Amino acid sequence: MNRTDRTQLRRLPKRGFHDSATINQILDAGFLAHVGFQVDGQPFVIPTLYGRDGEKLYLHGSAASRMLGELSQGVPACVTVTLVDGLVLARSAFHHSMNYRSVVVFGTARKLEYETQKRSALRVVSEHLIRGRWDDVREPNSKELKATSVLEFQIEEATAKVRQGPPLDDEEDYSLSMWAGIVPLKLTAGNPAADSRLAPGTALPSYLADFSDKH
Ligand SMILES: Cc1cc2nc3c(=O)[nH]c(=O)nc-3n(C[C@H](O)[C@H](O)[C@H](O)COP(=O)(O)OP(=O)(O)OC[C@H]3O[C@@H](n4cnc5c(N)ncnc54)[C@H](O)[C@@H]3O)c2cc1C
Repeated sequence: MNRTDRTQLRRLPKRGFHDSATINQILDAGFLAHVGFQVDGQPFVIPTLYGRDGEKLYLHGSAASRMLGELSQGVPACVTVTLVDGLVLARSAFHHSMNYRSVVVFGTARKLEYETQKRSALRVVSEHLIRGRWDDVREPNSKELKATSVLEFQIEEATAKVRQGPPLDDEEDYSLSMWAGIVPLKLTAGNPAADSRLAPGTALPSYLADFSDKH
């Protein structure tokens, strides 16, 4: 992965990673990104879904979306993905922390114009979220594709930062008697709830059971 001054980790660099394997692992484990960009000098950060293929992220949404419209002009943008793994409760207030895995990506986007490109990018986003869903559903028709903007965001530079493990207290505080440790946090899928208008006899697809198992 490229490295310049803007991806130089200054604070706790030992928690930082520049290798594609770590960065991609985090990008693949998440599905919600926050996209930062400027419009007329005004900063915006907008939450959105994404999918990854190699060093490209795919974003989609309404053709009327300001975010997608601005990004498609090739403005520099910053995308972040954060996975929260736990609260770290130390003996001192100062050493409380979070266990997390996060990625900060810099790059620029371009709008995909051709139907075939848009379809395959939308497939990437869909499969990123729920593997197996795309082949199960009705694909978008030309009218729906026209109403959908799809962007290819080229990752130019990225860093990952990871904190795992127990609290790290000052040595003299380990003899204090308050509780310290970790409260693990994770996003879990609930039981799928069938739509009330489901066609009679429609079974729960196996990929959804897999999805619930995975989460
Ligand atoms: C979990 C999640 C997933 C999403 N996935 C997608 C996706 O894949 N594609 C997609 O197009 N959109 C997605 N959205 C919606 C997205 O965040 C934007 O609302 C939407 O894209 C419209 O963007 P815009 O720039 O046109 O907003 P505009 O309507 O132009 O925004 C105007 C103002 O509205 C406010 N605003 C806009 N969005 C939000 C928001 N989400 N929360 C609070 N205030 C807001 C801000 O003040 C913003 O400046 C998702 C939102 C969430 C929370």
